Parts: sequence; structure tokens; C-alpha cells
Amino acid sequence: MAALQSRRGSLLPICLAFVLVAGALPLLVQGEFVLFLSTQIAIYFLVALGLNLLCGYGGQISLGHGALFAIGAYATAISMVDYQLSFWIAAPIAIVLTAGAGALMALPAFRLSTWYFALITLGFANVIGGLLTELRGLTHGFAGIVGVPKPAVFGHTLIQAQLYWFLLAVCLLSFLAIRNLIQSRFGRALLGLHDHSVLVRGVGASLVNLKMQAFVISAALAGLAGSFMAVHKTVITPDDFPTDLSTFFLLVIVLGGMARLHGALVGTLIFFIVPEVLSALHDWRLLIYGTSLLLLILFAPSGVAGGIENLMRRRRAARSEPVIDEPLAKATLQPIQGAALEVSGVSKRFGGIAALTDVSLVLKPGDVHAVVGPNGSGKTTLLNLISGYYPLDGGHITIGGRDVIGKEAGHIARMGVRRTFQTPKLIPDLDVLENVMLGAFSDEHSSLLSIACGLPGARREAAAREAQAMHYLQFVGLHQRAHDPAGEVPHGQQRLVEIARALVGRPGLLLLDEPAAGLSLDELDGLAKLVHEIAGLGTTVIIVEHHLELVANLAHSVTVLDGGRILASGTPESVFNNENVMAAYMGKRALDGAKS
Ligand code: ADP
Ligand code: MG
Repeated sequence: MAALQSRRGSLLPICLAFVLVAGALPLLVQGEFVLFLSTQIAIYFLVALGLNLLCGYGGQISLGHGALFAIGAYATAISMVDYQLSFWIAAPIAIVLTAGAGALMALPAFRLSTWYFALITLGFANVIGGLLTELRGLTHGFAGIVGVPKPAVFGHTLIQAQLYWFLLAVCLLSFLAIRNLIQSRFGRALLGLHDHSVLVRGVGASLVNLKMQAFVISAALAGLAGSFMAVHKTVITPDDFPTDLSTFFLLVIVLGGMARLHGALVGTLIFFIVPEVLSALHDWRLLIYGTSLLLLILFAPSGVAGGIENLMRRRRAARSEPVIDEPLAKATLQPIQGAALEVSGVSKRFGGIAALTDVSLVLKPGDVHAVVGPNGSGKTTLLNLISGYYPLDGGHITIGGRDVIGKEAGHIARMGVRRTFQTPKLIPDLDVLENVMLGAFSDEHSSLLSIACGLPGARREAAAREAQAMHYLQFVGLHQRAHDPAGEVPHGQQRLVEIARALVGRPGLLLLDEPAAGLSLDELDGLAKLVHEIAGLGTTVIIVEHHLELVANLAHSVTVLDGGRILASGTPESVFNNENVMAAYMGKRALDGAKS
């Protein structure tokens, strides 16, 4: 898995060496300052780690993480000082509180666009900042909370170095848990949440759940960091949480690398160590920051970690031998149970445009049905209605005998409907195989907790899914490309990847939107064979296609749309001999081609 796994593999030895060095620090360096600074860095790293999950991977820009961090710190400090609770009770309280605040923050994200949402989170941060001084009875106002004790284990109170080691262990475990999540179906879907939400719904994921999970996990990490902040500083005041703290965390992950596994670590280190190194140049610091950030955005838009990974990938690619095509036997795949489809009297308007009017269609399980018609005649709209992307204006649709009215696209996908898109939608940051695996999203049952902990059951399921995805990639003939970044695959092959992604969901109903568009003649041949084999698996197929020869060879029945209405329907023979159809759309020559 080139994309996500290179993020896993490439820097891992460096990371381990780093943890060892970081752990040895209190033994190597005398003096409070280095220990204090290292603890602070580790705490900020936890916040950045969670923020990278939400903003980097999930594309949800939060300017409120400084406030979540503050909530965690204050909840811990108040519980320990004013209520005499131990750290082991106070920290979970803080985490639950911040996770709850994160869930609240997620609510506007369901309705608002990214930047409006970012503004709301900024407002949230300001309100919390204000409350820290206003709610004097609880937070002690400007004086803050004094005398937060260090955690105690069996009556022994940890000293600063021990707290630091404990924190390092928590950082390492959190990092591994986030890494496991990122490399699971959760991480793959999360990467599509912002720019590819249509696709993510199409594989059966719920956008609401995904967002909520990302917010809660991200906020809980900020809360955990806050708990450590309280026991580390022992005195916390509103000054520890300035209003620009949230912006600072965002800068850290932009600098380190958004959606890069090591982005949070690299970003936090640079942000803290460079100023210390530059302390002699104090007056120039802002200028140096500004210039470096500009250069970074110009030359390494994926941050420092992203830049290093790209460099390593290029060097590896240059060194590796070209792949020799090893002919693999066509995978023998399990038959699929096709679903019946009934579309009856369906209409859809977009403002003044009647995209579909009174369209009906009945398919038996295993039928291959073609939809043809000129551009703008409503073909894609028909697929969008069947797969639940738009509500119907009239009529009804049943799939496998079950009504789909009012059901969300993710729900319909979970009923066994998969589709490809007229313009292929792949997540460019994932490799080809990972894109295919996304298609099985709704079939995976391991809980997020078991995935994060890397439990054997979750690992087994992930391995089985990967093998299955490889199987379908082999079926469409693209196994050699499994580990290429999807963004680098030629257009025609992207269509095949989409077909593999659809098939891995083992759909009872498969909708193909112009799969032949832009294919070369060779590729077209391959596609015809492929659709034949897909039909042979037993799934019901609707194929939107201009290529009449392909249609005549493949389809049991055809519907011709014109201006959103059915112009003709029936067997390919009867439809292509229909005078109206011939005269209006196909042109004599195309028809002769189809018949010969
Ligand atoms: P086809 O796939 O046959 O080329 P479409 O189904 O994409 O046609 O479009 C049918 C008509 O509906 C067109 O006039 C198109 O402009 C309109 N249409 C499709 N989707 C939308 C949308 N989301 N908003 C507004 N108009 C749309
Ligand atoms: Mg279309």
C-alpha cells in the first residue's frame, strides 16, 4: 500500500530512534529547562496529532483546538485541586468532557462549508477563552488554579522526569493508535470526507458518523494533552491558553505536513526547537518564520514530512527495477446474487429543468440493461436517483423488493448498490489498491477501538479485505498497478479501478456511468470482455453508454432517453430498428455498425 504504508514504513526506524533519544534525555542532560521544554513539546504533539486527524485527513479546519486543550487542562486541575480527585479519575473526566465538547463542535460541521465552519470554531475558542476569566467561581479567574499535584502511583508521586517518561509512552501509544486508524477503512474514508464526499457516500459510509468520530477522537486527544498540561505546569492560568493557540496548532500541522502520519511530530519539533536555536536572532524570528512558511508552501506544499516522504519515494522508484508483467490467471470469483430493480413513473426537476419525466424500468436479477441518449437526456440523473444522491420528485424505486424512497446514498450503498462515476472519482492520496479497498467499507465490522488497538481480529479482517481487493484488481487486470498512487494512473485505467472498487462491494446492482468514455480501441475491447464477465457473476447491471456496438453485444434490454423522457425501450434489436430512435439520435451509419 504505497500511499498509506509508505507513510507507515519510511520513517519508522527514525521514529523509534527518536523515541529512544527522547527517552534518554533526562539522563543525558542535566538541568530543569530541557526536561521542561521536552515535556511541553510532547504535550503539544498530542494536540497536533489529533488535529492532523481532523484537519489534515478529514479536511475539517478547526480553529478551536486551543480551547479544547484548555478545557482538558482546567477540568483536570479543578478536579484535582478543588475536588481532591486523583489524576487517574481527573484525566478520564477531562477526556470525556473534551470529547463531548468536540461532538458539540462537530454539529455545525454537518451544515456549514469549511470556512464558515472554521469561523464558528474560532468563535467557540473565543467564548471558552472568555469563560476562563469570567467563570471565577470555577476557574479562579486570572489567578488560575494553583498547586496541581503530580500523578501518584501506589502512593509514590511521580517526579518531573517520571512524568515525562509516562507522557512519552502515552505519546507513542497514541501515535500507534492513530496510525492504525489512518491505515484502516476509517482513514481511507476520512481522506475522502472533504473533497470526495460523493464517493464516500457511494461506498456506504455515513458522513455524519465519520465526521463525528473524527471530532471526538481529535478532541479527546486535546483533552488528554490538557490533563498532562495541568500536572506538568502545576499552575494553570488563562495566559497558558492565549487566543492564537489554536492558530498555532494549525500552523504546526501545516508546517509538518497535513495528512502525513509524521506531520504532527515533525511540525511540533520544528516549531519548538527552531525558536530555541534562533533565540540569538530573536528580533528576526517572525520574519524567518514568515519566509520559511512561504517557501514551504511554494516548494513543499505537503509540509516538511510530506517533502521528505516524496523525496524518499522518488529515490526508491528510481532505484527499483521495472516490474515485469507476470501473467496472473484470472481470479475465480464467487458468484453474486443479482437484485431486482423497479423504477416506476420517476420524475426529477432541477429548478426549471425537467431532467427526468415519468421514467419507468423493470429489471430482473442478473439483467444487463443499457441506457442511451444524447448528452443532457437524464442518464446520469437516473443513476443518481437510483443510488440515492437526489430525492425523487415523483414516482418510486424499489431495489430487491425494498423501497428506497427517503433513504440516504450511504444506506442504499449498504443495500448492495455500487456505481462508477462519469468522471472517475479516486482519492489521489491513496494508492490504487487502497482505493479499491474503500469499496468494501460497509462490509467491514471491526470497531474503531479494536482497529486503534490493532487487535488480532481487526488485523485479520483488514488482511482479508486487502486480499479480496487485490483479487478484484486482478479481475480488471490492474494488479501490477496496485501500489501506484491513484492520481498517477492514466484516465482509462482509473475507470477500471472504479469498477474494481464497485465490485469489491459485491453489489447486487451495479451502475456503470459511461465506462467506455475516453478509452482506446484496445481498452474498449477489454472493457467489453470485462462487462461480460461481470454479468457472468450474476449481478444486475445498468450501463450508460454511447457506444452502440458495445450495447448491442452486452445488453439484454435498452432504454433510450431523450430530454428526460423515454423515447423507446426493449431489446437492442427492436430499439435500434425503431424509426424514431434511428432518425433522431443514432444516425444511419452508427446503426449499421451496431447491427453488423
Ligand atoms: P446525461 O447524463 O444524460 O448527459 P444528466 O442526467 O447529467 O444528463 O443531466 C440531465 C439534465 O439535468 C441536464 O440538463 C443537466 O444540466 C441537468 N442536471 C443534472 N444534474 C443537475 C444538478 N445537480 N443541478 C442542476 N441541473 C442538473
Ligand atoms: Mg451523464
